[in-house]
Parts: sequence; structure tokens; C-alpha cells
Amino acid sequence: MQQINNLNAKIAKFRDQIDASIQRVVSSGWVVLGPEVKRFEASFAEYLGAAHCITVANGTDAIELALKALGVEKGDIVATVANAGMYTTTSVLAIGCVPAFMDVDFDTQVVTLAEVKRAVDAGAKTVVVTHLYGLAIPEIQEIATFCADKGVALLEDCAQAHGARVHGKRVGTFGDAASFSFYPTKNLGALGDGGAVVTNSATIAQQVAQLRQYGWSSKYCVELAGARNSRLDEMQAAILSEFLPHLDEGNARRHQIAERYRNEIQQTDLVHPQGDNDAWVAHLYVIKSPKRDSLQQHLRGLQIASEVHYPIPDYQQPVFKNVHADAHLANTERLAQEILTLPCYPEMEDAEVSAVIKAVNGWVA
Ligand SMILES: *Cc1c(COP(=O)(O)O)cnc(C)c1O
Repeated sequence: MQQINNLNAKIAKFRDQIDASIQRVVSSGWVVLGPEVKRFEASFAEYLGAAHCITVANGTDAIELALKALGVEKGDIVATVANAGMYTTTSVLAIGCVPAFMDVDFDTQVVTLAEVKRAVDAGAKTVVVTHLYGLAIPEIQEIATFCADKGVALLEDCAQAHGARVHGKRVGTFGDAASFSFYPTKNLGALGDGGAVVTNSATIAQQVAQLRQYGWSSKYCVELAGARNSRLDEMQAAILSEFLPHLDEGNARRHQIAERYRNEIQQTDLVHPQGDNDAWVAHLYVIKSPKRDSLQQHLRGLQIASEVHYPIPDYQQPVFKNVHADAHLANTERLAQEILTLPCYPEMEDAEVSAVIKAVNGWVA
């Protein structure tokens, strides 16, 4: 059985480092918000070229707390894409905000400057953009400049794009703040949940640091509203510190696999994903085909897992009932019908990649 991901293989590869970091934390006796968290925050900020990194419990909390630190309040309109798995929309709803949905480009599957402009003209005071499937949004610099000129806050969701670069700059350093997830299957993943807010603003960093811990200004003194408990624990931070130096090599291996898919899959009925070396960290290898269901079924018959990221546009999620009945984003909806994710992760072996290629080539559309 070829899985879409293989955490066991990753754990086996890094077993010694993982065991050593757990030992280190256990021996220290400091298990929450201690030196390991500080060390990881400093090294991740340095890796990105950002001034501050504040870790939190997961990527969805990172989005929510970053939005609050950006001044977003109940009733505000927050623009987001609708093809990124509902994570941002969940955070937006948790604050009591109203999501305004932007369409994506059909080829890149990420948001465009034109759509950001449309959302801002329609009243959005805050914009969340998602670097999806590992692709840095090609127009991120132009979007950041536009938002800054308009006084609109910009949050980059980088949960799928750790390390991706545009003009030599890593994603997460263009907007006012950025959110990351360290869910185990992300390009930089812990062995449990984790997330972070990254920013160049000392004020935003300070706000998030308080919002993740009850709104405290100092111990037991609650200053900020809208806070919660959302901390990364020391063991996850220690493990992430071990994994971070291997992020680039993991991304390079993802590229190797993607190159083989591009070169060796011979199917005229499918379209390969875009993205060159710097701008794309190959988080997911997402192909497009109008006959995607038939391909998925064919692969399933050969014991090869594939996945649809994501099948339901946010505004069509059942939680909304009829609230967004009028919403219609042409590319988002067409993509939901045509996309299919093939297995692509650093520990995937050459023989496994070959088996996927052979299986896809054996499909008769
Ligand atoms: C995984 C993911 C998140 C949420 O991260 P969690 O740590 O699972 O809460 C947010 N946005 C995107 C694009 C993601 O892929």
C-alpha cells in the first residue's frame, strides 16, 4: 500500500535526534514555554529572515491570534481564499468576523492581486492570503505593497510553504504577519500539533505572546481580551529544532520526486503543477484532470493513495447552511472537481515513486 504520507519513515530516519531531544527536555524538568521554545523561535525567525517568531499550539490558532493582534474585531470583513481547506475561515468565524471569499488563478491555484483588489474594494479591512501546496504566491510583493498603501492588514498563511522564496525573500516576511503550522505532515512538522506567528513588528509579536497565554501582561494579570491558552510544549519545540536544519534538504527531495513525476508521467489527460525551485517547496503534488475521479479510482485499485485537497469550497461547507448561497467563484469550483494529490514526501523511496508513475501511466482516461 502506497500512503499519501509516511510518518513512520520520518520517525525512523530521525530516531536518534528525536530520542535525544525528548531526553533533554525530560532531564531539564521544564516542559512548557521554556528554553526549547525560545531557542526554536529564535532559529525559525532567523531561518525566515523575520524579526520575531511566537509559537502557539497549532496553525489555526496562529491565524486567529495573528488576526486579533492585527486588530481584527468581531463583525469585521476578512478576505480569504475558499480553496485552502477552511482553516482561515474557521479562525475568521471564531472571532465573529465575516469572511469575504476571493477566487484563485486556475493555473497557480493561489490568489492574485486583482482578486485582493476586488475584496478590498468590497470592504475587506484585512486580507489573508494562502501560499498553497507549497507555492509562494507569485504576486505576493505586489499584494503586500497594495495592502500597505490602502492601510489594509495582510496576513500570509504559510502552513504549506515553509522555506518558499520570492525575489530571494522567504514567504512569511511580506505581510504584516504570517502564520505557520507544524502539523506532522507539513514541510516542517512536529510529532504533534504546533504553530507559530511570524512578524517584523515588535508590537504584534508582543500581542501574540500575550494572547497565547490568557492575555497576561505579567503572571496572573490579564490585560488583553480575546486571549486563550495556546502554547507549544517544550518537547515539540526541541524536536522542531532538530528538524529545522533538515528542512531545505527535505524540500530538495520533494523537488526530486516532483521532477520525476513531471518528466516520467506520460498522460495527455492531466496537467502538472507549476512552480520552480525557489518559489515552490512541493508540499503537495497536485495534478489537474477533468477525469480525476477515474484516476483516483484506478490508483486505489493499485493500492496507491491519492487525496483531494480540498473537495469543498469554504462557502459551500455545510456549516454555512444558506448564508453564502449566492457565492460563486469559477476557478475555485472547477478546481475542486479536477484536482488530485499524488504522494510526495521526503522519505518516499525511488521505487515507490516509480510505482506511482507506472500506475498513473497505466491509467486509460
Ligand atoms: C494545516 C493548515 C492549517 C492549519 O494548521 P493546523 O496546525 O492543522 O491547525 C492552516 N492553513 C493551511 C493552508 C494548512 O495547510
